[in-house]
Amino acid sequence: MSTDSRLYSVVFNKCPRCHQGDFFVKNSAFSKDFDKMHEHCPHCGENFMPEPGFYWASMFVSYAFYTIYSLLTFFIFVQWLQIDLDYYLIGLIPTLILLTPYFFRMARRTWLTLFIAPRPHVHADVTEQK
Ligand SMILES: [Zn+2]
Repeated sequence: MSTDSRLYSVVFNKCPRCHQGDFFVKNSAFSKDFDKMHEHCPHCGENFMPEPGFYWASMFVSYAFYTIYSLLTFFIFVQWLQIDLDYYLIGLIPTLILLTPYFFRMARRTWLTLFIAPRPHVHADVTEQK
């Protein structure tokens, strides 16, 4: 995957502007502080909190991820592999619960990426922008 694409920053926990600095403090979605974000990019100084309540709408992005995941696994397991629908649903619910931190982080990065144009080769001094 090209490091210049928007998808790169969403998938690999990187700043949507420079694709260098980390978006969340921890790289793992399954750590204790999985929801702690940097306020500014540690590399380029991009503001990760444009306005209060900015990430409220990322809830709908997260909903889209749950829907896509559910439909995709439905067609793979029920339609293609012919697994009983009851077994599929029994497996789906705990899987969705386990994936909640991952989708939470992906949704926030996706939401911010929609509003920031990537400039991956810009190297700004963080102290100048604050
Ligand atoms: Zn950055």
